[in-house]
Amino acid sequence: MAASILSTARNSAARRSGLRRALAALVFALSSMAPAAGQTPVSVIASHIENATDHTRLTFDLTGPVAAHVWPIANPARIIVDLPEVTFQMEPSASRGSGSKLIRAYRFGQFAPGRSRVVIDLAAPATAVRVESQPAASGARLIIELAPISAARFTADAQAAGAIPAAKPSPAPPAPLGLAPLAPTEKPVVMIDPGHGGVDQGAVARNGTEEKMIVLAFARALREKIEARGRLHAVLTRDDDIFLPLAERVALAHRANAALFLSIHADTLAAPHVEGATVYTVSAAASDAEAARTAEHENSADQAAGLESPAADGEIGDILFDLTRRETHAFSRQFSHSLVTRWKEAGSLNKNPTRSAGFVVLKAHDIPSAMLELGYVSSAKDLARLTSPEWRDRAAGKTAEAIEAFFAARASAAAAPAPDTPRPE
Ligand SMILES: [Zn+2]
Repeated sequence: MAASILSTARNSAARRSGLRRALAALVFALSSMAPAAGQTPVSVIASHIENATDHTRLTFDLTGPVAAHVWPIANPARIIVDLPEVTFQMEPSASRGSGSKLIRAYRFGQFAPGRSRVVIDLAAPATAVRVESQPAASGARLIIELAPISAARFTADAQAAGAIPAAKPSPAPPAPLGLAPLAPTEKPVVMIDPGHGGVDQGAVARNGTEEKMIVLAFARALREKIEARGRLHAVLTRDDDIFLPLAERVALAHRANAALFLSIHADTLAAPHVEGATVYTVSAAASDAEAARTAEHENSADQAAGLESPAADGEIGDILFDLTRRETHAFSRQFSHSLVTRWKEAGSLNKNPTRSAGFVVLKAHDIPSAMLELGYVSSAKDLARLTSPEWRDRAAGKTAEAIEAFFAARASAAAAPAPDTPRPE
C-alpha cells in the first residue's frame, strides 16, 4: 500500500480543486488502511528536522500510515497537523532546538477524543508544500515540507483555511461527568483543575519535565487528601493527559455544581533563582507586571493547542461591577488567604505569594476560585520539590487543609452574621 498522500496548503482556487481530487483519492485509499476497531493506534516513535536552502522538512517515523490534515493558523503563525488518534512515544525534548529558520518549536499530543495533533510554531511565514506518507522500516513515515512565503500570503492562506469548516475542527465536548445536580445535604464539590494537557504541555523544564504532568500528579494527590478527610467531594476537570479548552474547564465546574474551583499550574521564568508557590485570584487589572505576564501565558493555553482565537478578555473587564461577582470575589480572596497561610507551613512560597490578574479560567462569576502556581520549573530547587512524591504529599495535605478551613469559615460566617455586615432597612 504505497499510496502517496498529498495535501498542500490551499492558496488558490485551482490548487483547491486539485486538492479536493487528491483528498478524495486519499480518503478512498485510507479507508482500506484504517485500523479496525479495537486495534492498537499507530505510534509516532521519532521525529527529525532537515534544513535545506529552500525548505525545511519535518519527518515523523510511525508504526503505520496515517492521514494528516495540514493547515495554517495565524496570530501567532502556526502550522497545524491533525491526525487520527496516535500514541506519541517520543521524548518531549524531541520538540525543541530545531535550529531551523522556519520552525521555532513544535509540540504534540492528544487534542480531542480520538484525535491527535502536532502544532508547529513558525519562526517565519511558511506553507506546507508537501505532505506525504511513505512506507518505511518502522511502518510508515510522514513527511511535512515547509517553504517560506510572504507574510501577506500566509495571512491569506490562514484566512482561506479558516473559511473551510472542516479545516478547523474544534475539540469534541468531553463525555459528561455523570454528575446529577447535588442535593443540599450532600458534600460541597471542590473542582480541581490541573492545567494544560494533551497537545498543550504547559511550561517545560530544561530536563524535559512538563507542567501538564506535574500538575496532574498534584491534582490527583489533592483529590486523595480531600476525599480522605471526608467532608468535601473532590472532582478533577481532567484525570488524564488530555487537552481541555479553558472555557470547558469552567463549564465542567458549573456542571458539577462546584462550590470552589482551584486551578493548578507551575510556571517558568528566564531568571532561575525565582522560586516558590504563588496564589492568584482574578482581577480586572493585574496586581503587578509578573501577574500580568503569568495571566497572558496561562490564557494562551488554547492557542498553544492550535485553537483559533484566544478567549475574550472583555468579560473579565466588568467583573467587579456585578454584585454576585463581588461576593464571589470576596470569597476567592478569603480562599487565597487561607491557601497562603497553610503553604507558609510547607515553606515554599514565592516572596510575593498573593497576586491577581485577568485569568480566563477563573472567570466563573458564581464560583469562588483561585489558581495555585506550585512553583517554577525553571528553578532547580522548585523542580526538585515539584517532582518529589514526599513534597507532593505534604503540599497536597496543606492545600486540603486550606480548602477545608475556607469552607469552615464560610459555614460559621453563615451561622453568625459578622458585626460589619450591612443590614437591609
Ligand atoms: Zn500553566
